[in-house]
Amino acid sequence: MTHILHRTPLSPPALTLRGRGSFLFDAAGRRYYDGSGGAAVSCLGHGHPEVIDAIAQQLGRVEYAHTSFFSSEPAEELAALLAEQSPTGLAHVYYAGSGSEAVETALKMARQYHVERGQPGRHRIISRLQSYHGNTLGALGIGGHQGRRALYQPMLAEPNHVSPCFARHYKLQGESDEQYGTRLAGELEQTVLALGPDTVSAFIAETVVGATAGAVCAVPGYFRKVREVCERHGVLLILDEVMSGLGRTGSYHAFEQEGVVPDLLCLAKGLAAGYQPIGAVIAHDHVVDAIVSGSGAFQHGHTYVGHPVACAAALAVQRIILRDGLPARVARLGEHLAQRLRARLGGHPHVGDIRGRGLFQAVELVADRASGSSFDPALQLHARIKRTALADGLICYPGGGTIDGRRGDHVLLAPSYLTDEPELDAAVDLLAGAIDRALAEVA
Ligand code: PMP
Repeated sequence: MTHILHRTPLSPPALTLRGRGSFLFDAAGRRYYDGSGGAAVSCLGHGHPEVIDAIAQQLGRVEYAHTSFFSSEPAEELAALLAEQSPTGLAHVYYAGSGSEAVETALKMARQYHVERGQPGRHRIISRLQSYHGNTLGALGIGGHQGRRALYQPMLAEPNHVSPCFARHYKLQGESDEQYGTRLAGELEQTVLALGPDTVSAFIAETVVGATAGAVCAVPGYFRKVREVCERHGVLLILDEVMSGLGRTGSYHAFEQEGVVPDLLCLAKGLAAGYQPIGAVIAHDHVVDAIVSGSGAFQHGHTYVGHPVACAAALAVQRIILRDGLPARVARLGEHLAQRLRARLGGHPHVGDIRGRGLFQAVELVADRASGSSFDPALQLHARIKRTALADGLICYPGGGTIDGRRGDHVLLAPSYLTDEPELDAAVDLLAGAIDRALAEVA
């Protein structure tokens, strides 16, 4: 009898006892390749001795001190490291306890920025359909996944959604990438104008879309055009790199590959790689200057922000990522993984797309390749793949509602940056087998 209300109460998960490198082991001694780092969290794999040592050392010094009384060495050093690794100006770190908290923080900081600058009417957030920004009410309220929103709809603030940049499904026949990006930037601008620019606070987007649509990159130029629209109308650009940041896509920040710099950047998952729960917002000079030279303080806070042990873990993780050149390793291994997925699944009658960047790759399933039609959502193909893969010893991150929150199935892979080619090859074989077994169930 379990006293935990599990995510799946009718089929509670096995106990995990041990993690080593790219693998988790359950209580029965079964081994699982962690092909998604849970939900793109465990970017250094499991049981990393240096991170564990950093945590132990910090616990020996001081476990906790409330940030209204004290700062801590690891919190200061981590913030300095993050600022150092970011473009000039993106230099002020506010800590959070999770990705959702980081997003809530960014939304509030954007709001306060406008108020400090004498524009109290600016409060609206524009976000994209098919996005995920977290599960707290504020973050869910701007999220664009209809399935995840549905139950809480009456409690959520009215969203201001624009189209995602999802060329596979939404680029028009004969439209170039350039034209598609321009059309979407135009839609954003029209939305800002329709709402009234003096009411719009920020536009938020995942640099590479993760959980809801599966490793979807924007077309080249999209983010530059969107950035211009934001600047024209005094709207802040918030990039959510909770999942895609800190090396995951082959560069330290995912936005480096888009040629833009956000005003506010949200981070979590890969920050402490699952060794501790922590998130952060990195804010640009001009946002922080407005607040500090205005009322003098950001009006926000949680009990555990800047937790010294979480910061010590994150500091150790980030030092390893940088010392060992892991973003470049991710780019190289990501290329290998993409090639291997294409070789093994590229000709599969039910694989419609293989996409991603770095060690952030996804496979989209189709009922019929010619028409691109998706499987009946009632079949829950994605959930079946999760089960068949787990039974075979592969942890992956399948999702449904890929196309519009209801239709479509994909599987996301986001393994450790320290995995290697043989592990990736074996994982692709396991995934191919799991997909076939799940398809056989629905045939
Ligand atoms: N933003 C993005 C892009 C995410 O992928 C997630 C988590 N999947 C979140 C925010 C929320 O993070 P958390 O689950 O840590 O609250």
